[in-house]
Amino acid sequence: MHIIAKCPGCGAGLPVDAHDAPDAIRCGRCGRDIPLTFTAAVRDDRGVDRCPVCQGGDFYVRKDFAPKVGLAIIIIGASISAVFYWFGRDLMAYSTLGGATVVDFVIYGRLKDLTVCYRCHTELRGTYQRTAPAFDLHTADLLEQEYERRIGRR
Ligand SMILES: [Zn+2]
Ligand SMILES: [Zn+2]
Repeated sequence: MHIIAKCPGCGAGLPVDAHDAPDAIRCGRCGRDIPLTFTAAVRDDRGVDRCPVCQGGDFYVRKDFAPKVGLAIIIIGASISAVFYWFGRDLMAYSTLGGATVVDFVIYGRLKDLTVCYRCHTELRGTYQRTAPAFDLHTADLLEQEYERRIGRR
C-alpha cells in the first residue's frame, strides 16, 4: 500500500511505503518527526482500518483524479474544435468537443478510488477492497476539529 502521510505540523504530503512500515518519518519541510503505527491489514494491503499517522478509524473514498489531466483534455479538445469552427466545419467542431468530454468521463470512470483519513487527510492507495463510504461534510467537520484540537492547532 502506498501512503501519502500528512505532516501534522505543516500539512506537507510525505510518501511512505506501508510494506516497509517505518516507526517514524521526518517531515522534509518542517523537520518534525512523525511517529507511524501500521496495522497488519495496512501493511499487507488488505484494507484500511487505522490511519498510520493519527490512529483514527474514519475514512472516506474518492476518485484518484488529477484535475489537471481532465482539464488538459478539455483544453486540447476545445482548441482542435476551434480550428474546425474557423474553417466552417461546425459539425466537426461540435463532435471534437463532445469527444473530448466523453474521453474525460471514460478516464474518470476508470480511475481507482483512494482512501482518505477524515482527521489528518493522509491518503492511502493500494489493491485492497475499498470499504469506506463517500465523503460526508458533517463527519469531516467534526473529526477535523477533534484532530486539530488534539495536535494543538486550534
Ligand atoms: Zn512538516
Ligand atoms: Zn489520519
